[in-house]
Amino acid sequence: MKEKKKRKLLFQQKQFLRLQSFEPNPPPVTVESRQHVPLLNYIHRVWQETWDQQILNKLHNIHPSTSHWAALPVRRHDVRLTRLRIGHTRFTHRHLLLGENAPECPSCKVPYSVYHILIDCPVFNRHRVTFFHTSV
Ligand SMILES: [Zn+2]
Repeated sequence: MKEKKKRKLLFQQKQFLRLQSFEPNPPPVTVESRQHVPLLNYIHRVWQETWDQQILNKLHNIHPSTSHWAALPVRRHDVRLTRLRIGHTRFTHRHLLLGENAPECPSCKVPYSVYHILIDCPVFNRHRVTFFHTSV
């Protein structure tokens, strides 16, 4: 037992020393540091080719490119936008945590989804016109 505490203490000391040596400002970009760019391009190309083959992955339809999404400067808004983009909201996925049935659209008799609410459902057509100036 003492050996376990000793190892834990040693681990914590190493972590502390790592944090002490953490350099908050990255080193400046130099010609030498740009030598990795072809490697990064190659990795990104392989990643994109792999992602292009994942056509059954529902996230592929949402974001077919491996490039970055534009992020909003306010984290709270960015989280909400990302949840809408991937279709995971408290309203549509709460049932998974609670062990209940998925909420169902009473008009269309399909499980609610972000796509259904924003695009498909005729019940929300008035809201789409009001807030987005568009309709189905
Ligand atoms: Zn509906």
